[in-house]
Amino acid sequence: TAGGTPAEVRSACPYCGTGCGLLLRPDGQGGLEVRGDPDHPANRGRLCSKGLALGETLGQEGRLLAPQVNGRDTGWDSALDLVAARFRQAVEQHGPDSVGFYLSGQMLTEDYYVANKLMKGFIGSANIDTNSRLCMASTVAGHKRAFGTDTVPGTYEDLEEADLIVLVGSNLAWCHPVLHQRILAARAARGTKLVVIDPRRTASCDQADMHLKLRAGSDVALFNRLLAALYEGGALDADYLRHVEGLGAALEAAFAADAAVTGLEATEIAEFCDLWRRTGKVVTVFSQGVNQSSSGTDKVNAILNCHLATGRIGKPGCGPFSVTGQPNAMGGREVGGLANMLACHMDLENARHRAAVQDFWGAPAMPDRAGLKAVDLFRAAGDGRLKALWIIHTNPAVTMPEADAVRAAIKACDFTVVSDITAATDTARLADVLLPAAAWAEKDGTVTNSDRTISRQRAVLPPPGQARADWDILADVGRRMGWAAAFDYQSPAQIFREHAALSGLAGRFGLDFDISGLSGLSDAGYDGLAPVRWPVSRRRGGRFFADGRFYHPDGKARMLPVRCQPPAAAPDREFPFRLNTGRIRDQWHTMTRTAQSPRLSGHLGEPFADIHPDDAAKLGIKPADLLRLRSPHGQAILRARITADVQPGDLFVPIHWTGETAPSARIASLVAAVTDPVSGQPDSKASVAAAECF
Ligand code: SF4
Repeated sequence: TAGGTPAEVRSACPYCGTGCGLLLRPDGQGGLEVRGDPDHPANRGRLCSKGLALGETLGQEGRLLAPQVNGRDTGWDSALDLVAARFRQAVEQHGPDSVGFYLSGQMLTEDYYVANKLMKGFIGSANIDTNSRLCMASTVAGHKRAFGTDTVPGTYEDLEEADLIVLVGSNLAWCHPVLHQRILAARAARGTKLVVIDPRRTASCDQADMHLKLRAGSDVALFNRLLAALYEGGALDADYLRHVEGLGAALEAAFAADAAVTGLEATEIAEFCDLWRRTGKVVTVFSQGVNQSSSGTDKVNAILNCHLATGRIGKPGCGPFSVTGQPNAMGGREVGGLANMLACHMDLENARHRAAVQDFWGAPAMPDRAGLKAVDLFRAAGDGRLKALWIIHTNPAVTMPEADAVRAAIKACDFTVVSDITAATDTARLADVLLPAAAWAEKDGTVTNSDRTISRQRAVLPPPGQARADWDILADVGRRMGWAAAFDYQSPAQIFREHAALSGLAGRFGLDFDISGLSGLSDAGYDGLAPVRWPVSRRRGGRFFADGRFYHPDGKARMLPVRCQPPAAAPDREFPFRLNTGRIRDQWHTMTRTAQSPRLSGHLGEPFADIHPDDAAKLGIKPADLLRLRSPHGQAILRARITADVQPGDLFVPIHWTGETAPSARIASLVAAVTDPVSGQPDSKASVAAAECF
């Protein structure tokens, strides 16, 4: 402190995958002053409305202050003894696959690491999945198919060096606002062209040169047409293609594609293809509109195909760029906290990788096949296959597709544990055991943002009541289950060092994720860790794929022959609308934190459904009428917003609002639990629904 004023502490924002750096100063009354960190490479001092309002979201009302068993406060010992006993009992009586963890991209890397180690190495099941399955699983699968590993090749600086940025299925202006600001600043300085590909007109279109308002689910047809046009225009990079397999089959699929299914004018498509072909430095930014699809992985590969074929990857200002929704979706991927991953980008199904991780952990058991992904995990909870489920920092009773069925499944599961900061979430109300967790600004750890930059989140406020950090709770359960030495963690620094050392194994297998250069960090070094982009290793540095070296056994990348598949359900007489879901600018997830800020709630204060004027006229819907939406899976009541931003036949509804009793504004209750066959990611953008005046 200087003159009695507490010093500012560096930390990172708990919301989107941009991963902005913050400077936090406690006000001495439980609050915080928050400003952007001018030295953080992600935001250089900028913050969006959500980051700026963080200080208004620290209210303790509704905080879970003590462990609860069946609704009654208890102590940690009795709660965690019960958790350990019930998980052990389920494993002994029904096998390791009778238990599961459902985690969150909100968790810190150290928390994720301990959860993954406990489930995969010690319980011996791969039934550990996360709400990141709803966010970017299709990108993980697409990266692995094309590159051999889940590598994000680009950086934020590429967005500023590009001459053309294509946003696909991404309302960056609202969902990653600081990244969007960086793009607009670069555009002002160098005239970067901006193209938005989205069925909906969004705030990201305001400054775009072109908006391709394609039909839902037709992205593969558009990018196949682009690949064919690049070939026809002589834009393929023969030199770079020496590092790529699969061109012939990918081109065959591209030429077989019918771009008419996009609903776009041929001239619009030609103009887009021509702009792409003529521009040397292109970054394609993609997000949930690509990932949340029953053909999400194919969409990702259709995009990657175009960059690989033209060598627009591995160079400054070039590349495909997946932006993650959550603050630590990337950290979760890095520790392997998904049902089909191992750790540090090693493969669950690779015996050498498994043996190396098992040996490193001193683990008694390792699963050799993928566990249940999110949708199947809750189905197993509902039909009795899962006997014990631990849900950490996420609210699946609101957010999972077919949310009413998921709510019933959680209720039906023999034993459900929920760790959260509040007891008031729809999911927490269904738990047998509630564990009070430390919140953002009360705990220490790391997160990785969309461009692989690892940042420290730092504790500046004391956790209230009996709240504890998640790594601490998970490790305690591991010890109580009988693995005292393996879970003898005293600090997140110790866990981070172990994670970094484990990544050295991945480096030895020639994989991309290697932060072994950080494995020797002292506690003080961890405390002071400045933002750092991986890899951090002596083995390999520099830009991924600049040398044309990929991670498939032959060292080459793969282009995939991808064909456009329509969404699983087609609108019909009973359900004539296509239902699209997404975020709004000033709320986050199910609003546990952001709803505390009057400023944020003032942006769009109630749940709504966007409907086209022609459809509204046909149904006799007037502005601000209440709408009842129905699907085969549920109902919701929402305020009508009549707008040509959506196409005729489409509806758009935000994801954030919750509700105890049906019908509510809990829109995921209408979304069909249809998943991509490769990634297991649900299609949250193209369900069918009916609309009527309420
Ligand atoms: Fe936080 Fe994302 Fe806003 Fe940055 S852009 S302040 S990370 S919500």
